[in-house]
Amino acid sequence: MAPKQSILGEALPLVASGKVRDLYQVDEKSLLFVASDRISAYDVIMKNGVPDKGIILTLITKHWFEYLQKEIPDLKTHFISLDLPSSVPQDKVAELKGRSMHVRQLKVFPVEAIVRGYITGSAWSSYKKTGEVNGRKLPEGLQESQEFPEPIYTPSTKAELGQHDENISTEEAAKIVGEKYAHRIEELSLTIYKTARDYAREKGIIIADTKFEFGLDEETDQVVLIDEVLTPDSSRFWSKSTYKVGQGQDSFDKQFLRDWLTKNGLKGKEDVSMPEDVRDVTRSKYAEAFKILTGKSLQDTIQNLQ
Ligand code: ATP
Ligand code: MG
Repeated sequence: MAPKQSILGEALPLVASGKVRDLYQVDEKSLLFVASDRISAYDVIMKNGVPDKGIILTLITKHWFEYLQKEIPDLKTHFISLDLPSSVPQDKVAELKGRSMHVRQLKVFPVEAIVRGYITGSAWSSYKKTGEVNGRKLPEGLQESQEFPEPIYTPSTKAELGQHDENISTEEAAKIVGEKYAHRIEELSLTIYKTARDYAREKGIIIADTKFEFGLDEETDQVVLIDEVLTPDSSRFWSKSTYKVGQGQDSFDKQFLRDWLTKNGLKGKEDVSMPEDVRDVTRSKYAEAFKILTGKSLQDTIQNLQ
């Protein structure tokens, strides 16, 4: 739950605090969306963070917003600016710069819009058992990590803190958000995924699957892309050069951390600190994803923020 006191003072009250982000009220219609360096693996947050991870997630999201809006002209996003609102206290500017996004505050649709291009994770488990994913029959004979003939949309509920999201059918999603919005969310999700998939694949990253969130602009009745998009935290990124169908793939970013946790019997345990080498390798994987996707060096980008 959100702590009552905002570190940004009375001018910017803290409205919510998730696993990775803190949201501050800027004015009636906008929020400051701040990504921390916190990292979770196997659903548990590590005691120490990965330096600059919040900056990386914020700047990857910003990069995608720009690219997607160019490619999909009728797409609306919550992005306003990377500039900090003037109400941010001076002594907090260095800490918040780069990891914060000023965004429009919107009514969040309570579904997670998941798109899968490749069969893996919970979809692979379900397919092996029943031949179905989210209640939908899929072609026979798919192998683990194989690309679907067409990407599929597999929404889930957006669970309260501490609860697990549940897969639902598109019909159930329509019951939750209404037919009209559900259709638009599905259509946008698939279009965004395909656009990003092609861009990333060309650069050497396979986006196996990803999760979007959408909000409603009540003034214009438009469905708007919100939250973080197409980051290593909201997606499964695989390296194209090591990809092999018929087996599980190493995740681009967290594999090293997960392997270390498993090897040391720490999988799923609370209060774990990463040793320096695990933290540094993990940071370098996030930095690499940033470099590949944006074409920019992280070091230079961070220096330019100052
Ligand atoms: P996790 O991402 O680890 O599953 P989470 O999504 O609950 O957890 P965070 O990512 O830390 O938590 O916090 C982001 C929160 O902000 C989400 O609940 C998301 O729905 C909400 N959010 C994102 N963009 C907006 C927006 N423009 N207006 C209002 N709420 C938003
Ligand atoms: Mg989130």
